[in-house]
Amino acid sequence: MFHELTIRDVRPETAGAVAITFDVPDAAAADFAWQPGQYLTLRDTVDGQDVRRSYSIASLPGKPLTVGVKRLEGGVFSPHCQGLKPGDSLQVMPPEGRFTPRGEDRLVLIASGSGITPIVSIAADALARGAEVTLIYGNRSHDTIMFRDTLDGLKDRYLDRFTLIHILSRETQDVALLNGRITGDKIGPGPCRCGRSGRRRGHLFVRPWRHDRRCCRHAGGAGHRARAVAYRALLSGR
Ligand SMILES: Cc1cc2nc3c(=O)[nH]c(=O)nc-3n(C[C@H](O)[C@H](O)[C@H](O)COP(=O)(O)OP(=O)(O)OC[C@H]3O[C@@H](n4cnc5c(N)ncnc54)[C@H](O)[C@@H]3O)c2cc1C
Repeated sequence: MFHELTIRDVRPETAGAVAITFDVPDAAAADFAWQPGQYLTLRDTVDGQDVRRSYSIASLPGKPLTVGVKRLEGGVFSPHCQGLKPGDSLQVMPPEGRFTPRGEDRLVLIASGSGITPIVSIAADALARGAEVTLIYGNRSHDTIMFRDTLDGLKDRYLDRFTLIHILSRETQDVALLNGRITGDKIGPGPCRCGRSGRRRGHLFVRPWRHDRRCCRHAGGAGHRARAVAYRALLSGR
């Protein structure tokens, strides 16, 4: 059942993406208890049409309910979201999804673009409970990195247990391995270690789906237990 939630905050993340934070009234708090990795279905009337789309929860543990929406050129709902303001409201379905960690103590996370939204929540939650986390995050350039401040904050706070690797496809970095797209050599046994301990076995979460097959193959070679959930599979449930 949809609930009408008021928007508390809309923060630009990049030139083409916003983070939207909702107020959840006490009466709905139990319905909106969420686990890292879950998503919300948002609904609104856009140009006279009833439109629903799913967005992953990007909230950190104990923080207000937030999603990150990246504008898709030619899309209906994601451009509409860029113009939302605090005080506006949206119809929101309670959290759904099984792309959730199960208390693993070593995680290797791979994301690109807006695929970071569930991953930032998974990383923050795992770090808060003492896990070692490596995040490999692909983007075109530094200015398209979503949740950059949040990720930098986690890096500063969990220096010993959080390894953050940015791979950029349209901006040159000093280390050649960090340039281009996320490929097997970038996530093989060398760079793809768990946190600072460098232990090789960990649990792998990958977003979005186009990374799944090749990431899992290489991660399998590196000793990680892959648990990738495909956007493709999730999309079919929309
Ligand atoms: C579980 C889940 C979680 C997700 N999490 C996130 C998230 O955290 N952040 C995020 O940004 N996105 C996320 N998404 C994607 C999101 O749900 C939307 O699909 C996305 O925002 C695009 O919606 P839209 O209405 O803007 O685009 P749509 O209107 O659905 O259009 C999508 C694309 O299709 C093209 N198109 C539309 N109609 C036609 C047509 N008739 N012919 C040809 N082409 C057409 C458009 O040009 C556009 O490029 C998630 C999806 C799922 C399933």
